Amino acid sequence: MRVHDKRIYALNDKQSSKDAEDSRGPVIYWMSREQRVKDNWGLLYARELAGETRPLVVCFVMSPSFMCATFRQYDFMLRGLKEVADKLAEMGIPFALRIGGPDAEIVSLANDIGAGTVVTDFDPLRTSWSWQKKAARELKVPLIEVDGRNIVPARVVSDKQEYAARTIRPKIHRLLFEYLEDFPELIPQHVSPPDIPEPDWNAAYRAINVDRSIFPVDFPSGEKSAHIALDSFIKTRLINYAEKRNNPNAGATSRLSAYIQFGQLAPQRAALDVAATGAGDSQDMFLEELIVRRELSENFCLHNADYDSLSGAPEWAVATLDDHRDDQRLYLYTRDEFDKAETHSLLWNAAQNQMRRTGYMHGYMRMYWAKKILEWSPSPEQAVKTAMTLNDKYQLDGRSPNGYVGALWSIAGLHDRAWKKRPVYGSIRYMNERGCRRKFDVDEYISRWNIE
Ligand SMILES: Cc1cc2nc3c(=O)[nH]c(=O)nc-3n(C[C@H](O)[C@H](O)[C@H](O)COP(=O)(O)OP(=O)(O)OC[C@H]3O[C@@H](n4cnc5c(N)ncnc54)[C@H](O)[C@@H]3O)c2cc1C
Repeated sequence: MRVHDKRIYALNDKQSSKDAEDSRGPVIYWMSREQRVKDNWGLLYARELAGETRPLVVCFVMSPSFMCATFRQYDFMLRGLKEVADKLAEMGIPFALRIGGPDAEIVSLANDIGAGTVVTDFDPLRTSWSWQKKAARELKVPLIEVDGRNIVPARVVSDKQEYAARTIRPKIHRLLFEYLEDFPELIPQHVSPPDIPEPDWNAAYRAINVDRSIFPVDFPSGEKSAHIALDSFIKTRLINYAEKRNNPNAGATSRLSAYIQFGQLAPQRAALDVAATGAGDSQDMFLEELIVRRELSENFCLHNADYDSLSGAPEWAVATLDDHRDDQRLYLYTRDEFDKAETHSLLWNAAQNQMRRTGYMHGYMRMYWAKKILEWSPSPEQAVKTAMTLNDKYQLDGRSPNGYVGALWSIAGLHDRAWKKRPVYGSIRYMNERGCRRKFDVDEYISRWNIE
């Protein structure tokens, strides 16, 4: 089975002509966002190009700092990458771990080994996108992007920013039958690859140049753990998803977001396995979040360059927040007070503490948490910045399109509609603790997370 040609997108117009030396040179799969061996369309495509005559090399370039990531996230990533390297070695595919500026390092590797083609992952966020753009210019050979994240490739589903879930949903559903296909197995490599040094994991840990005070969390990383988590969710919790997913005490959600964020699990694998269960409403609701909501976030970041600021929000929402800019705030906190969970609200502090301690905050609490940041910040701009900064700093699944969209949905009406007007919020949808109390046992949540 071949990789669907619409997942593939040329990032430069360099050609490796049939007779040229470089068309027989190794294929590099520049792994970035999709950090897995199984179910990885980019890796499968690179393997397909290599065939039985050209060697395939997988390379990951670790930038010593990256989009406000902290030590917690680097540690999670490196633990997963070690497993990738070991699994590839069993298949005769070398794994190059380079440290430095990703665009320069990939160009240097391509030149060193006389590569004929470089394949990489689709990524709508600007840091990775700018590395890809620079590499596309500097490489002498084709750089090809493969969308291994979205079930319906983001460049295919829509060529514009979608207004809401209701506008992207029919587009996705119309194309799902074509793209929601099973993955072929990756074929081991038998040609001898170029000489690639063994990855030096200690050097990688030493090179990390970020906030080291955010300690790693005790959450299993890697492809194997991701599949165990998916299986366990399907066997034991999926059945309760429809009824209990909004109860932060129930543990009813999948907890797959970190695996998806680091590319350790293909959303398409989760969709295929869940779709095979016949779990009624729970199945439908889960697939709505996993496919429609998640791919709506990818669509937004692909088509809106202001995806991480208030300027990215819809006009009506920016206007209503502006009208209420000078409304009196009952409480005002600095970013540092939010960070340290020092607000008057035990419920808000519990959510912040859950995130700080575990690298994960329950989805329902994320909405409440971000809306209160709006209510207790001096301006909506600062609220957006605080929510995104804290989300990116602590969540394992942070720094993702879902995070930027989640913050803008909560604070600035993105993909939502206007609601009844209130102070500070204007027409942005409101949430309060009383609403939470109607949904779940707030005191249980508070006592679970507000411990010294
Ligand atoms: C303020 C705020 C910040 C958020 N930050 C992030 C973030 O940084 N990273 C992140 O992945 N998600 C984020 N979300 C979306 C959502 O809350 C999380 O994806 C979800 O809680 C992760 O837990 P889970 O894997 O158990 O979810 P499940 O309910 O089991 O859902 C399965 C998967 O579907 C996707 N999904 C679920 N809910 C949403 C949603 N509302 N929008 C888009 N995709 C969704 C995720 O990939 C998730 O892993 C945020 C939401 C808000 C309101």
